[in-house]
Amino acid sequence: MPNPEPRTPDRESVSGRALELRLHTATPEETEALGRRLGGLLRAGDVIALSGDLGAGKTVLARGIAAGAGAAGHVASPTFTFLREYHGPVTIYHADLYRLDRPQQLEDLGLDEILDGNGIVVLEWAEKARPLLPPEHLWITIRFMNGEDTRQLAFSPKGARYVEIIEKLTKA
Ligand code: ADP
Ligand code: MG
Repeated sequence: MPNPEPRTPDRESVSGRALELRLHTATPEETEALGRRLGGLLRAGDVIALSGDLGAGKTVLARGIAAGAGAAGHVASPTFTFLREYHGPVTIYHADLYRLDRPQQLEDLGLDEILDGNGIVVLEWAEKARPLLPPEHLWITIRFMNGEDTRQLAFSPKGARYVEIIEKLTKA
């Protein structure tokens, strides 16, 4: 396993709830390992919103989150199914809204019920579900950086619960 410690922690504007944490990873393995650490901090009802261009690493991060939260088995991209469900100590819902083109599809998917439910929800292309997102969630934007494998992960916690998670994530 590569070193799971995220590199270059860089805390920006640490003023209560406006906190944004930016971390960089240099390989997909580092991103997955960071996801695992995050997943290990989650519990039922948590909502993780992922944003970033195609190929940024949302699925890689989601895979780590699900594994860290105790999902059994391989976590695959849900791009063609919209939604996958993983069972473990807590049910993990992993949705990818990339191909969603009508808001009606959010309802067909039952996303509002899932978001109100008792699982952990990880959403790729979360901007497409903004109206449905609960006010408290963890928003993560992944950006390409110079160097083809370097990514910046910007964590924006919305609500005290997620500020706490981010604070734990910055500790070993
Ligand atoms: P998305 O779900 O955002 O469209 P994926 O997670 O499916 O993106 O794919 C990310 C791609 O980028 C993978 O091919 C992965 O190997 C590659 N990659 C290279 N560097 C990184 C990194 N630092 N973090 C995550 N993925 C990376
Ligand atoms: Mg994806």
